[in-house]
Amino acid sequence: MSRFNLTGIGMTSQRTRDRLVQRLQDQGITDPEVLQAMGNVPRHIFIDEALAHRAYEDSSLPIGNGQTISQPFTVALMTQTLCNQPRARVLEVGTGSGYQTAVLANHRHVGRIYSVERLGPLVTRAEERLRAMKVQQVRLRHADGYLGWPEEGPFDGILVTAAPRQVPPALLEQLAEGGRLIVPVGTDNGQVLQIYERTSDGLEVTSIDQVKFVPLVKGLR
Ligand code: SAH
Repeated sequence: MSRFNLTGIGMTSQRTRDRLVQRLQDQGITDPEVLQAMGNVPRHIFIDEALAHRAYEDSSLPIGNGQTISQPFTVALMTQTLCNQPRARVLEVGTGSGYQTAVLANHRHVGRIYSVERLGPLVTRAEERLRAMKVQQVRLRHADGYLGWPEEGPFDGILVTAAPRQVPPALLEQLAEGGRLIVPVGTDNGQVLQIYERTSDGLEVTSIDQVKFVPLVKGLR
């Protein structure tokens, strides 16, 4: 038996998750796989138990160590943007709670997922949650995401969930042809969510939205 209540009750129940899915749809999330994943993944096990009743509000919440779990709409938008086509190998930078990782793992067009996090205690907790959910196709690593995961690259999808001032060169190097990198770029004063696409002609960059993420920080803790 796992110590997590995966199904939930009351404010953490399936009905509450279904209402979140409805709101995401109203806000323009259209990928049925993303909507299904958002309905399946119990966000309440990815935050402190004391905050579980707020798990299905559309807000970011603290997850300890000064970090936050991203807002559901942002998770849905990033997943939908990454999965405009099947992605066999995906790198996530900034595992945090593991929630975005679990949503990716629930998307049927995502293959293997490699996720790196610089704060050791968060890696341990994310691992416990993903194990409780019986997620198979994910590998986590306590590592500096500025360097990507060279041994496992190239990736046809890269999702960065903390904001660098500039896109780390290693991530662009590990992006396969036909691949997409989604990254919030900027400072605490403002960030833009950008898409980098590697085509046979080089890199194409598109900006899609104003966002607010914690900063991408160099080095391990
Ligand atoms: N995807 C996460 C969001 C967590 S917030 C979720 O769904 O919960 C961003 C995370 O990026 C934090 O946990 C932070 O510690 C991590 N991070 C910041 N800089 C990093 C780096 N250089 N390498 C890996 N992870 C980093």
